[in-house]
Amino acid sequence: MEIKFIVDNNVGKLAKWLRIMGYDALLFSGEDDGKMVKIALAQNRVILTKDSQIMKRRLVTSGRLKAVLIKDDDIKAQLRQVVNALNLDYHFKPFSVCLECNQWLHEKDKEEVRELVPPYVFRTQSLYMECPSCHRLYWRGTHWQAMTRELEKVAGAK
Ligand SMILES: [Zn+2]
Repeated sequence: MEIKFIVDNNVGKLAKWLRIMGYDALLFSGEDDGKMVKIALAQNRVILTKDSQIMKRRLVTSGRLKAVLIKDDDIKAQLRQVVNALNLDYHFKPFSVCLECNQWLHEKDKEEVRELVPPYVFRTQSLYMECPSCHRLYWRGTHWQAMTRELEKVAGAK
């Protein structure tokens, strides 16, 4: 089964980077830790947090619930910690999860996006993905390439 995450808002930036890599990473923006634990348990998600109290919960100490205590403040170091701790793949499924809503993207027929994207993009890109929730369109243009390079920098750092 694929690994899924619930990301505490004290390490919220991790959610976006995990989505770029193609992992299902739900952002928990509430205040109630108990609720986060409940969702993690119900949906079989690994908790990523900076809150050491969560690590002391029985569900976590007993191993029923998996959680990673994030040590660093720097997002790149945080990402490297998660990747190393859980043996993740930086190139797991790029271009498959909406960076805004964490929904799986669907491939969109090129003709359907003709009116929706800039003419230059339409001429140069052939693969388009759409989020079923926010209807944002994704293509592997310059923005995407910049993010991929950024990710490679993180991956290359020791
Ligand atoms: Zn979306």
